[in-house]
Amino acid sequence: MSPEATKDSSLFPKLFQPEASAVQYRKIGQKGLAETRFGSRNMLTIDAAAITLLVQSAFADVSHLLRPAHLHQVRKILDDTESSANDRFVAMELLKNAVISAQGKFPSCQDTGTAIVLGKKGENVLVDGNLHDAICQGIVNTWQIRNLRFSQMAPVSMYVETNTGTNMPAQIEIEAVQGDSFEFLFIAKGGGSANKTFLFQETKRLLDRERLLAFCDEKIRTIGTTACPPYHLVFVIGGLSADQTLKTVKLASTKELDDLPTTGDQTGRAFRDLQLEGEVLKLTQDLGMGAQFGGKHFCHDVRVIRLPRHGGSLPVGMGVSCSADRQIKGRIDQDGIWLEQLETNPENYLPETEVSAASAKHINLDQPMPEILKQLSQLQVADPVLLSGTMIVARDLVHAELAKKLVAGQPLPDYFRDFPIYYAGPAKTPEGHASGSFGPTTAARMDPYIADFQAAGGSLVMIAKGNRSQQVMRSCNTHGGFYLGSVGGTAAVLGRDVITHVETLDYDDFGMEAVFKITVKNFPAFLIIDDKGNDFFTVKPALIS
Ligand code: SF4
Repeated sequence: MSPEATKDSSLFPKLFQPEASAVQYRKIGQKGLAETRFGSRNMLTIDAAAITLLVQSAFADVSHLLRPAHLHQVRKILDDTESSANDRFVAMELLKNAVISAQGKFPSCQDTGTAIVLGKKGENVLVDGNLHDAICQGIVNTWQIRNLRFSQMAPVSMYVETNTGTNMPAQIEIEAVQGDSFEFLFIAKGGGSANKTFLFQETKRLLDRERLLAFCDEKIRTIGTTACPPYHLVFVIGGLSADQTLKTVKLASTKELDDLPTTGDQTGRAFRDLQLEGEVLKLTQDLGMGAQFGGKHFCHDVRVIRLPRHGGSLPVGMGVSCSADRQIKGRIDQDGIWLEQLETNPENYLPETEVSAASAKHINLDQPMPEILKQLSQLQVADPVLLSGTMIVARDLVHAELAKKLVAGQPLPDYFRDFPIYYAGPAKTPEGHASGSFGPTTAARMDPYIADFQAAGGSLVMIAKGNRSQQVMRSCNTHGGFYLGSVGGTAAVLGRDVITHVETLDYDDFGMEAVFKITVKNFPAFLIIDDKGNDFFTVKPALIS
C-alpha cells in the first residue's frame, strides 16, 4: 500500500515543492492509535509505544536490507559491458553481502552508523508520552538486541572520550507541518560516509557551466574511495545558509528530493538540474577510479540541486551515500503504523554465474614476514590477492597508544612486526559464528603513524579501504612496505565466510577498537601501494582499459 502524502496550500510557495512520491509501505501495527476530538478537529493520538515500535523496526530493517532501486543499480554494473573486471568483482561482492545481511544476523556493514531520525509531525497529531524518549528507546532497543556496533563517543572532557555503549545519542529533528500523519525518515549514517560531506563557500563567478563542471571535477577527485563506492553523489548549489545547503545534501543523498521540480522559477523554489546531473555522472565515469579498484562505476547516480541564495553568498555542498545505502521511511496515520518495504530477497539480483577476481594470487600470511613481503613484491598495483592465515586488527586508539610508546623509547609489540595489520572494528558476533560483520575502516586515519611504525619494523603490510597519503607511499618505498585495499561495504561476507577465528589480543578495554588476532581464509584484496613507490590511485589511468 502506498499512503498518499497530504497536500496543503499556502499563499507563500514553499522552497521545496516535491511531488508526492510513490513509496511502497508495509503495515507493522495498529496498536496505540486513537482518534480524539479536540475542539473542531479530529486529532490522531499516538501512544509513545507505537513510536518506539516504528523506530526499532526501522533501524532493524535498514541495518540488514537495502532499497530495490539501489540493488538494481549494483546489478547493472555486472551487466554493463563497459564495466572493468574490478568493477564487476566489487559489485558481485556487494550483492553477496546483501544476501548474507538480509538473513538478519550480520548487518550489511560493521559500521552500523549514527542513528538519525527526521520527522514531520502533522498539526492534527498528538503523541501521548515523551516523543524524544520514545524515539531514543527504539534506537537503544535495536542496538541492544541486534548484532550491531556501538560507535558513539562521549566527550567526558575536551580530550577524554568514552564509548556510550548504547549507540546514543542520536540526531533527532522533528518539524511541525500541516496534515494528519506523522512522517519519518530514518538514516543510519556510517562515519566514513559522513566524513565525505563538504561545504565550499563560493561566489557568483562559479555560476558558469564550464567553471561549475571544472569545480565539480576537482572536488569529486578529493572524495576518493574511502567511503566505499559506488556512491550516490550529491551537489547542492546555493542555499539560504550553510546549514541549509548541507541538510539538502543529506536529504538528496537519501533520494528524499528526487521529486523536486526540474526547473527554477521567480519564487526561488529548489529544483533538480537533470542535465548537470548527467554531465557530472560522466565526469565520475571518466575518473577511472571505478567501484574502488579502477573502472567506470565510481557512482551509481548523481543529484544536483539548485537552491536560492543571498546575493553575497554561494554555499556549495557535496556529499555521498555509500554502499551501505541505509535510509528508510516510516509513517503513522489513522490506518496504522507503516514502514517502507525494503528488498528482502536480494538473491534475485545475483547473476547466474559467479564473478571472481581473475588470477588472484594466494598469499599465506602465516609464513615469516620477509617471505610475505617477497611475494607481494612480485605483484603489480591493482593485482588481486587472496589472503589466508593470521592478521592483527588494530585501528585509531591502538595506533595512538603505540605511537606514545615509541616516543617513550619502547618497541612496538612483536605482533605489529610479525603479521599484517588490518584496520577494522567488528560489530557484535552472532551466536554460533566466529565473527560479526568485520569490514575495513578508512586507512587514511592511520597515515600519520606509518612512517614511524615502519621505521620501527611494524605495519609493513597494511589492509584497509580507501586511498593513502604520499607520506605512506614514500614510507613503503623506503621501508619495503605494502598497502592492500579490501572491498569496503562487504563486512557481512567477511564476517560470515572469510574470518574463521577472532580473539582479543591486547587493549581489551578499547572495546571494538581493541587489538584482535584473526584468522582469515581467502580474504580478497587488491595491491594498492607497493614497495617501489607505486600507488594505484596515482597510476590507475594506465592500468584501466
Ligand atoms: S559501507 Fe563503508 S562508508 Fe559506508 S558505512 Fe560501511 S564502512 Fe562506512
